[in-house]
Amino acid sequence: MKVVKFGGTSLASGEQIEKVFHIVTSDTERKVVVVSAPGKRYKDDTKVTDLLIACAQAYIANGNGKEQFEAVMDRYQDIADYLELSADIIDRISTDLLEIVNGDTSNPDKFMDAVKASGEDNCAKLVAAYFNKQGVEAHYVNPKEAGLIVSDEPGNAQVLPDSYENLRALRDRSGILIFPGFFGYSENDEIVTFSRGGSDITGSILANGIQADIYENFTDVDAVYAVNPNFVSEPREIKELTYQEMRELSYAGFAVFHDEALIPAFRAGIPVNIKNTNNPSAPGTKIVNERKNTNGPVIGIASDNGFCSIDVSKYLMNREVGFGRKLLHILEDYGLSYEHTPSGIDDISVIVRQHQLNEETEAQIVKRIQEELTVDSVIVEHDLAMIMIVGEGMRSNVGTMARAAAALARAGVNIEMINQGSSEVSMMFGVKEVEEQKAVYALYEEFFAVSVVER
Ligand code: ASP
Repeated sequence: MKVVKFGGTSLASGEQIEKVFHIVTSDTERKVVVVSAPGKRYKDDTKVTDLLIACAQAYIANGNGKEQFEAVMDRYQDIADYLELSADIIDRISTDLLEIVNGDTSNPDKFMDAVKASGEDNCAKLVAAYFNKQGVEAHYVNPKEAGLIVSDEPGNAQVLPDSYENLRALRDRSGILIFPGFFGYSENDEIVTFSRGGSDITGSILANGIQADIYENFTDVDAVYAVNPNFVSEPREIKELTYQEMRELSYAGFAVFHDEALIPAFRAGIPVNIKNTNNPSAPGTKIVNERKNTNGPVIGIASDNGFCSIDVSKYLMNREVGFGRKLLHILEDYGLSYEHTPSGIDDISVIVRQHQLNEETEAQIVKRIQEELTVDSVIVEHDLAMIMIVGEGMRSNVGTMARAAAALARAGVNIEMINQGSSEVSMMFGVKEVEEQKAVYALYEEFFAVSVVER
């Protein structure tokens, strides 16, 4: 049995939904189909989820958002027209959505989640209607009825363990099951969404729940690439990678697959296959527990920006018991989560995502570190990028760090910091944001023996 998830671009138009139909019905093992909301049809198009967010904001601010409501309905209408679906389905979607937008806005986060989730929910109804029209037995499944229970954290739900057991019963249902991605229900029966891009998470939870043999995740690229395809043209495709490699790559900007989506599949040992709706015969990329071919030390290079580094130094810091704890405690007081803490004997840097700070909180934090920890200096460096080179093969290869550092030196990139996790699956280099692309090119050329054609 397979769980198959389709992303927004795979459902953006009637034409795309026809492709989804052919993919699903070409393999009888494809039992559970998870759908996103219709995404972008072309580069500057707006995703239905973003239209819904604008719609919810209008209702919260003015008690009305007719224009935005209609923009959403137009997307469904276009699809229904193309697929020649009967008017009932659009009436049903319109009635359901109207009921939601006219609901209680007194808790804006909950209201927002209910409106956002309707994108997936209505898409699932539409897809089920199309399958039925084509003579295939398919049923829309509501996450509440199926028992997908999540924590009550709007926009950041976490699955609750009972869900897996509840979802197992889906195995015995007849026909193809069309399940909306991106949300579940709290124990109080309220809709709560996962973080953005969260339909991948739903698919993984379902794969675990029904103990699928594989979780196929259909998107709009042939594979996970070894480097960001927006930087480099025709980057190398990755055929196979481990859960941990994928986790590291998606942390630092590989957006093909949601980083939270790996956990349920990983726990149940279910392989994930990333595939392309527009080219379904391509093998895609498999994410597995262990891969045989190590392909040299590095499997992929990722980068992300928008970081800053709080650099603290104090003579004899290494002997002061509790220094690190006190420092991190100050950050905790401001609700900051930190990403890395590279350190020397008398200095430590705390890397945080810059958007968490503003001028005022930054000044307060610096002042508290100076006064409470009596440090020699504290400096905040802004606009940093983190470049990660990732690969299980690094554990058994000598000299990877030297090769990376030499490549960056040849490209004239100044390394601001270096960090390697204890698992030895990745190495991270902090550089100035303006040098991000140059650094990525240099590392890609070094480890993949290609000369980069820049985008
Ligand atoms: N539609 C949601 C989003 O745009 C979830 C998803 O597509 O996975 O974030």
